[in-house]
Amino acid sequence: MHSEMNIIEEIKRLKKERNAIILAHYYVNDEVQDIADFLGDSLALSQIAATTDADVILFAGVHFMAETAKILSPEKTVLLPNLNAGCSLAESCESSKFKKFIDEHPGATVISYVNTTAEVKALTDIVCTSSNVIKIVNSVPKDTPIIFGPDKNLGTYAQKMTGRHDMLLWDGACHLHHEYSAEGIKAQKIANPNVKVLAHPECCDDVLSLAEVVGSTSALLNFVATSEDQKFIIATEKGILYQMRKEAPGKEFIVAAVREGDGEDYCRYMKMVTLQNIYEALRDNKNVIEMPVELMDKARKSIVKMLELSK
Ligand code: 13P
Repeated sequence: MHSEMNIIEEIKRLKKERNAIILAHYYVNDEVQDIADFLGDSLALSQIAATTDADVILFAGVHFMAETAKILSPEKTVLLPNLNAGCSLAESCESSKFKKFIDEHPGATVISYVNTTAEVKALTDIVCTSSNVIKIVNSVPKDTPIIFGPDKNLGTYAQKMTGRHDMLLWDGACHLHHEYSAEGIKAQKIANPNVKVLAHPECCDDVLSLAEVVGSTSALLNFVATSEDQKFIIATEKGILYQMRKEAPGKEFIVAAVREGDGEDYCRYMKMVTLQNIYEALRDNKNVIEMPVELMDKARKSIVKMLELSK
């Protein structure tokens, strides 16, 4: 068993030895964020994965993120410290069912959130993230129907923002964002007058209508860092508070209320990445992400299309 200090030194040593970089999402554990070479939202991390000259990418995030990195850099070794780190959104969209949905609506352009499996991306025309969803939807000609999956909340938000009411939405949701409670947040607003609610667009429509700011993780982070306000109610995974506190020192954050019951107020998958499993993955070349070349070639087109449209 290593002390935290030793393990950090060992990770640094292994990174150098293997010419590896660590990419981390804002939702992972604080100590994991601290050892990352790049910390970012889903779009930024995929942009880095596509352009890095490292030999090894260790993804401190969840499975679809590591898959996306591998698809964009197939010649590199991509490691996911814990292969059980999945995503409820990706799980809510099984590829054979999604294909049936697509086949039922010929002629539609298929937009999928990046939180999907490689198989779903291979059925997709353009991938999107929460930071470019409006731009991607607007890139589709007005007379072409859109299939949007798997997050119905993000889809509903995109419909509202673009006026594209012809979008056919897949019925999926994020187990965490779907749990934020409009009733609970209303009570938090009453208890904290004039405090703005900042929400990720994966939240339900009733929560988004209470929010003064809706945006991707990086957009919410940017808002707290640049706003004059001193206190905020945050409706997205609370791992982001670590970075918010760093970028907006002295400001106050309230985690948005979740529905009463057995719902969790954190993402259990993002928290599966630890210093120990990062160290072991780098040391033993453990949990290497592999996919058939044909699948990667098919899935890459929709991701590259997104990267081109996001420039
Ligand atoms: P962004 O970092 O792109 O905002 O989204 C993260 C995510 O996966 C939310 O579930």
